[in-house]
Amino acid sequence: MKKNYDVIVVGGGAIGSAAGYYLGKTGLETLMIDMYTPPHSKGSHHGETRLIRHASAEGTQYVPLVLRAQELWSDLEKQSNEKLFYPSGTLLAGEENAPFIADSVSVAKRYSLPLESLSAKQIEHRFPQFTVPNTYQSFFEATSGVLMSTKILLAFRQLIAHYNKVNTLYDTKVISIKSIHNGVEVITSRGSFFASKVIISAGGWSERLLDNIELPLQTMRKTFGWFKAVGNEFYPPNLPCFYFNFNKRKYYGFPNISGSGIKIGRNDSEIPMEPDTKEEFGEYSEDEEDLIYFMKKIIPAVSRNFKKGETCFITKTPDKNFIIDSHPENDNIIIATGFSGHGFKYSIVIGEILSQLIKEGKTTYDISTFSINRQFKENTQ
Ligand SMILES: Cc1cc2nc3c(=O)[nH]c(=O)nc-3n(C[C@H](O)[C@H](O)[C@H](O)COP(=O)(O)OP(=O)(O)OC[C@H]3O[C@@H](n4cnc5c(N)ncnc54)[C@H](O)[C@@H]3O)c2cc1C
Repeated sequence: MKKNYDVIVVGGGAIGSAAGYYLGKTGLETLMIDMYTPPHSKGSHHGETRLIRHASAEGTQYVPLVLRAQELWSDLEKQSNEKLFYPSGTLLAGEENAPFIADSVSVAKRYSLPLESLSAKQIEHRFPQFTVPNTYQSFFEATSGVLMSTKILLAFRQLIAHYNKVNTLYDTKVISIKSIHNGVEVITSRGSFFASKVIISAGGWSERLLDNIELPLQTMRKTFGWFKAVGNEFYPPNLPCFYFNFNKRKYYGFPNISGSGIKIGRNDSEIPMEPDTKEEFGEYSEDEEDLIYFMKKIIPAVSRNFKKGETCFITKTPDKNFIIDSHPENDNIIIATGFSGHGFKYSIVIGEILSQLIKEGKTTYDISTFSINRQFKENTQ
């Protein structure tokens, strides 16, 4: 195998595989390394599906990125000839003045994004599967929906395999990255490789690969699970995606897509978890109860049908904004991490951004919020 490259991508998960795909289009000699064979269930990208919403409560800086990502997901569907996106729409609902709802509404106004206000009566009529309290504020975002995350990673892998300038090295662990004259040495469990530049997209493991710099990253355990749901009313578009601020908790979910059932997850639980010591679903007594509690109140018809649960971890920055920047002491090292539980929907456009940073040294997108040198203020929402 060749030892010298223009660029090495360390970590071929959601972000790294998108970067590999766009680097392939640039014609640069690229090596993508992962310690497993993506898609896998050891990092942050597993569980079949991810939500894409446009009126992003996380901040206005994300809207241009998500709109571009939506276009690129369509391109990827064409390139791969796979169904990767279901435009099911998303129902947002929550107690009055829930910050998540208020922020989504304000972002939608600012960018003229369609977000339709629905009363509890209208929901009962349009989506009778949900029981939404009368006091809740609810909105429907018709343009959003489901990304088939596992199939997307497979699509990237297959498309990357067609580029003869991109090599992949799976089941190979990167042990360290050393700055050398005119580039970097990437030391792996299968020897050293050399490149002019490196992208570190190693998710929750990224910091371990960085010398002389400490990033304020925390890895947090998240739970999700599936409920058996028989009947057309649980398939998209009859059942949309949903995101609820419910009794001071946050839950999200997906319609039944491939027969696997309705998937829901709890978004606000904050249990720290080391990436290498995965705590399986059921290790905490409340794992299952948490999910059933929501379903009993909101989609009662299937709340007795719990099938199985899983865990995954997110890699959080204090302000929940991403880190996409070059290493403060070495321009040849580009870092893309800290996706804080909301990165998947943008991964394709981040792949494009990373390839621009490598090829041109700059990007056409505004990524100033993601600077590595910013003041990381705590975001408690
Ligand atoms: C339960 C859950 C639900 C989510 N829901 C959504 C959602 O609905 N919408 C949304 O937009 N986002 C969502 N996210 C967030 C999204 O999935 C993540 O932001 C995204 O997957 C992060 O991608 P990544 O490439 O940084 O990490 P990963 O996908 O984990 O990839 C990192 C890769 O680096 C590799 N690696 C690490 N260290 C090394 C090493 N030393 N050598 C070689 N390889 C290495 C790993 O094997 C891994 O493949 C969710 C996350 C979770 C956990």
